[in-house]
Amino acid sequence: MENAVNTSTAGSGGQIVVAGAGYAGLHVALRLSAKLRNNPAVGLTLVDRHDYHQVITELPRVAGGTRAADAVRIPLQDVLSERVRFVQTEISGFDLAGRRLLTEAGPIGWKWLVLALGSRPNDFAIPGLEQRTLSLYSASDAERVWAAASKALDAAAAATDSQEQRRLATVVVGGGGATGVELAGELAEMLPEVASRHGLAPDRPAVQLVEAGPTILAGSSPQLIGKATRILADLGVHVRTNAAIAAATEESFRLKDGQLVEGGVFVWAGGVKAPELVANSGLPTGHNGRVKVDQYLRVLDHPEVYVAGDLASVTDPRTGHVLPSLAQVALEEGETVARNLDAELRDRPLEAFTFHDKGFVVSVGIHRGVADIAGITSGGQLAHLLKDAIEWEYRQSVKHLRGWDPVAR
Ligand SMILES: Cc1cc2nc3c(=O)[nH]c(=O)nc-3n(C[C@H](O)[C@H](O)[C@H](O)COP(=O)(O)OP(=O)(O)OC[C@H]3O[C@@H](n4cnc5c(N)ncnc54)[C@H](O)[C@@H]3O)c2cc1C
Repeated sequence: MENAVNTSTAGSGGQIVVAGAGYAGLHVALRLSAKLRNNPAVGLTLVDRHDYHQVITELPRVAGGTRAADAVRIPLQDVLSERVRFVQTEISGFDLAGRRLLTEAGPIGWKWLVLALGSRPNDFAIPGLEQRTLSLYSASDAERVWAAASKALDAAAAATDSQEQRRLATVVVGGGGATGVELAGELAEMLPEVASRHGLAPDRPAVQLVEAGPTILAGSSPQLIGKATRILADLGVHVRTNAAIAAATEESFRLKDGQLVEGGVFVWAGGVKAPELVANSGLPTGHNGRVKVDQYLRVLDHPEVYVAGDLASVTDPRTGHVLPSLAQVALEEGETVARNLDAELRDRPLEAFTFHDKGFVVSVGIHRGVADIAGITSGGQLAHLLKDAIEWEYRQSVKHLRGWDPVAR
C-alpha cells in the first residue's frame, strides 16, 4: 500500500493504472492480477481515495441502523494480491496527452488507463437540495443518515406538541428508485422499533417517499411495482408520486404544485451523475456526464483509456437505452475490460461488451423484498433472502477472485 507516488512513473512502458476501487475498478484489478501473474513486465496500479472497497448495495442497511458502517467497508489489503500496487490518494484530473493520472500524491504514468470513478448524487440544480439533504453514496453518508434520524427522534421526544413531534420524527426520502425504496423500507421498519429508546411513542416516527414520476421503481414491471407499493404501504410509508420537488427548505420539500412535505430529516436519492472532475477532462461525455465509449469499452478517440461502471455511457443495442447505473453492470464491464487489456497484451482481438441481465432485486424493509428474475416476479421474504444471497455471493467472489482466473492459460 502506498500513499505517495514517484513522478518518475510518468510515461512508463507497461503500466496499467486503474482509477477507482469500486465494483468495476476492483474487479478489473482482481482479474488482471491473476491474468498478469506470469507477466512481471506489466505493472498494475490501483488508485482510490479510500483504502477500502465499499459494498454500496448494503448502504440502506447502514442508513437504517441494521448494519455497522465498517461492515460494508472491505479493507483493500485483505483482497489485493502483491501483484497490485495500491495508491491511496485523491485523483484530481487527467493529462491525456502526457498519459498521466493527476493525483494529490503526484502524477501517475500509464500506458493503459481504466477509469472507474463511479457516480455522485445529482441534485438537478434544485434550489436548497445540496445544502439541506443528506445523500447515500458512501458508508459515511449512510452513517450520517442513521445519526440524523436518531437525533431527530431525540428532538421529537423533547418537543411537547404532538404535531411538532410527528414533523421532527418524519424522514422524507426524495427519489423513488431502488435506493429510495430500500432506504424508506428500512427506516419505516426500524424507526418505530427504536423510538421508545428515545423516549418517543412508536407511532410517532413516519417515512415519506417523494417521487417526481408517475410510479416508484420506474422501468420495472407493473407486477414488481405493485408488490413493492403494497409492502411499503404495509410498512406505513407514505408514497407520493407525480410529486416533483421544486425546492428544499429547512423544514420541507416544496413541490412544484406548491404543497409542502414537512419533516425532520431529508435524504436525496433521486439520481446520480458523473464526478465533476470528468466534466473538464476533455473526455467525450454524454447523458449525466458519463463518458462515451466504443463497443470494447474504450473512450471514443482514446483507445488507450477504458471506462467501466457508472462512469461509462454504454448503450444496450437490444433496447437502445444507456445501461443503468448498477453494480451488476459495473462488474460485467469490469470483466470485459480485464479481458480486453489481457488481449491487448497478447496481441489478440478485443471482445465487444454485451450485458447479460441477471434480473432485478430490491429489498423493501428488513424482511421483505421484490424481485424480477427470468420474467418471474416475486415479493416477500424470498426476495429479501435472494438479496442477502446476492450480497453474500459478491463478498465471497471478492475474496476468491484474488488469484483466480477462469480463463488463465
Ligand atoms: C444506496 C445504493 C444502493 C444500491 N443498490 C444496488 C443494488 O442493489 N444492485 C445494483 O446492481 N446496484 C446498486 N446500486 C448501484 C451500484 O452501487 C453502482 O452502480 C456501483 O457502485 C457502480 O460501480 P462503480 O465501480 O462504477 O463505482 P463505485 O462502486 O462507486 O466506485 C467508484 C470508486 O472510485 C473512487 N473515486 C471516485 N472519485 C475518486 C477520486 N476523485 N479520487 C480517488 N478515488 C475516487 C471511490 O472512492 C470508489 O471507490 C446502488 C447504489 C446506491 C447508491
